[in-house]
Amino acid sequence: MKKIPQRTCMVCGDKSGKREMNRIVRTKEGELFYDPTGKANGRGAYICSQPECIGSILKKNALNRAFHMEVPEEIKLKIVDDINNAKK
Ligand SMILES: [Zn+2]
Repeated sequence: MKKIPQRTCMVCGDKSGKREMNRIVRTKEGELFYDPTGKANGRGAYICSQPECIGSILKKNALNRAFHMEVPEEIKLKIVDDINNAKK
């Protein structure tokens, strides 16, 4: 059996692979951004496309916990924006 890399949503923990996962990356320089290609270098974390999970980025500081850092408000807004725009 081939091993498929697991993508677990950082908020709800879903890893069924049924939902679309959005990759967020932190670079060595500490930059955080949404990575639509899934190929950017850095530490990646995934969040699924459920509105509640994406909402948790702003409401529950999901990114702070996933990346163990204080994420500035404007970065969070940008990432949420980018994910929402990517789905259109
Ligand atoms: Zn989720």
